[in-house]
Amino acid sequence: MTDTHQKSIADALAEIRKKISPTGKNPANLIAVAKTFSAEAVAEAIAAGQRHFGENRVQEGMAKYPALRAAHPDLVLHLIGPLQTNKVRQAVAHFDVIHTLDRASLAEELAKEFAKTGRRLPCYIQVNTGEEPQKAGCAPQEADGFIAECRNRLGLPVVGLMCIPPADEEPAPHFALLAKIARRNGLERLSMGMSGDYETAVEFGATDIRVGSAIFGGRSYPAIPG
Ligand SMILES: *Cc1c(COP(=O)(O)O)cnc(C)c1O
Repeated sequence: MTDTHQKSIADALAEIRKKISPTGKNPANLIAVAKTFSAEAVAEAIAAGQRHFGENRVQEGMAKYPALRAAHPDLVLHLIGPLQTNKVRQAVAHFDVIHTLDRASLAEELAKEFAKTGRRLPCYIQVNTGEEPQKAGCAPQEADGFIAECRNRLGLPVVGLMCIPPADEEPAPHFALLAKIARRNGLERLSMGMSGDYETAVEFGATDIRVGSAIFGGRSYPAIPG
């Protein structure tokens, strides 16, 4: 039951899809970030045709999606939050894509788990483009080396890069930097852009945008923990 003053999830999705691709051509992949929202809200988005969902906590993803996945085998679940090495086994079992590969210890654990299970999840390497001390991601100047280590030494399926620009800065230079690092490493996918800046991200070549509150509404805890 949708309040008439509030935009429905279906309307919000349609609006975003139109904005990111006015002509309907080569749109960026829209990942609906459902953290803090219920399985019912996700079901509403599924009914509107949405298939890619993002969660930033492993536990929350494990709890919310089993029945939805059983009913919709084509759902794709993206882990977009920090991944602790002791949660790698659960993350690999319950998610389809990892956006937050950011350090050697995690790369090692993922490589082991992929080998053990045969489930090789596409990975994005998170780059801390703003070099913020409290934020996850490898430093921009270490990105080339880390990308090479992940791909060559560990054989991880690295498909692209991901960033979360500092909240108080213009996002454009961060998107441009991420695109530049991806280009020189021959990586095709760019996971960047959230509710407040996804249109800018698309201008800078985003292939995957991660949008939460513009679809589901406001949350009662902050978008990015820590
Ligand atoms: C919460 C979150 C998003 C979505 O944020 P909104 O501002 O609600 O669109 C995107 N990326 C990450 C990593 C997040 O944690």
